[in-house]
Amino acid sequence: MTTNDEAAARARAVIPGGVNSPVRAFGSVGGTPRSIVSARGATVQDIAGREYIDLVASWGPALLGHAHPEVVATVQDAATRGLSFGASTLAETELAELVIDRLDVDGIRGIDRLRLVSTGTEATMTAIRIARGATGRDVIIKFAGHYHGHSDGLLAESGSGVATLGLPGSAGVPADIAALTLVLPYNDRDAVRTAFAAHPGRIAAIITEAAGANAGVLAPEDGFNRFLVETAHANGALVIVDEVLTGFRVGAAGWWGLERAAGETWTPDLVTFGKVIGGGMPLAAIGGRTELMELLAPLGPVYQAGTLSGNPLAVAAGHATLRLADADVYARIDRASAAVSAALHDALDAEGVAHTISHAGSLFSVAFRDAPVRDYDDARAQDSWRYPPFFHAMLDAGISLPPSVFEAWFLTAAHDDDIIDRIVTALPDAARAAAAAQH
Ligand SMILES: *Cc1c(COP(=O)(O)O)cnc(C)c1O
Repeated sequence: MTTNDEAAARARAVIPGGVNSPVRAFGSVGGTPRSIVSARGATVQDIAGREYIDLVASWGPALLGHAHPEVVATVQDAATRGLSFGASTLAETELAELVIDRLDVDGIRGIDRLRLVSTGTEATMTAIRIARGATGRDVIIKFAGHYHGHSDGLLAESGSGVATLGLPGSAGVPADIAALTLVLPYNDRDAVRTAFAAHPGRIAAIITEAAGANAGVLAPEDGFNRFLVETAHANGALVIVDEVLTGFRVGAAGWWGLERAAGETWTPDLVTFGKVIGGGMPLAAIGGRTELMELLAPLGPVYQAGTLSGNPLAVAAGHATLRLADADVYARIDRASAAVSAALHDALDAEGVAHTISHAGSLFSVAFRDAPVRDYDDARAQDSWRYPPFFHAMLDAGISLPPSVFEAWFLTAAHDDDIIDRIVTALPDAARAAAAAQH
């Protein structure tokens, strides 16, 4: 039997840091990452034969739980017909129809056209290229702590692993490219107005997470997304709403659908999807209004392509996942999220640990500070050193949390009452470990 330590050591000898995506390395929590051999429902199994209740859910995609039998069967069936054709399939059209239909809320269409790509990084990169092509402008506004993948222009003060590792950005990004990205504090309307005033006629787009969830959960304040759309449009710029994480996770029509259901009337210019849309396979997408999307090649001058774009296995997994993601699935996830976050609050309260739990739909995260978390500076101003012992106490109890305090906790439709009870039971010991943590 191989141990996790042996697997990690072998990996480090051939893979930088032993991982193919940085946060997996446990850099901010210490200890040995688990080498996973299988996953089913709400659990994952490691190479040493231990099972964990999983609150990472592949960072979101496993909406239905891992290895949902119907999704797996659909992918197996597709695989028997060929892994990749480099030509169009009807299944791609069916997925685009399904997504466009889901983004039609009470007769208001969120998007008219959809292009499939393989990763969220490609989706946001392409959305920015469309916005620049459409406006003939170069400058982009992004918000500190938001993560939009790892393309050059979007790494400045980024969330996710960049936040976990406490980096300002990335080496290897040319200064001339970084200079085209204005990084503003989230939820700060004055900062947005000031940026447009300071760069008249130069800003192509604002890119924003629909609800921030990569520096811990940072929900938009009421009306903030509408304000972004109105302000951008008043200045001849576009808004790219990044729903790579929130899309099809917080509800059937993503975060935009939740805002619409709450009475908001804005629509995005461009939307990006990833994670859940592929049901665990590499799939992502850009959606938007016809006149913007038809700027893409082969119809228009904005180039974008992909050998494996619309891959038949990924499309099969995504289509099966979205077909199964009905109102009951979202209700289960909402319930599980409410139960776990309430128990987390109670456990930390009982130990007198200062904390704030931030919510955005069914997404939540904990910050070890008393005051509310409104932007990235707030998220960073916390006792983050309380998280590693908390994380490891949970892991020892068989509960796998995201290995960073800056990530949301992901529940799935497979987190049933029994699983939730086991999470709730483990929380008091972990809260004691957080209380006893030494800076
Ligand atoms: C995960 C994520 C991305 C990047 O997606 P990848 O598939 O990892 O490239 C982009 N935007 C947001 C909001 C994300 O959460």
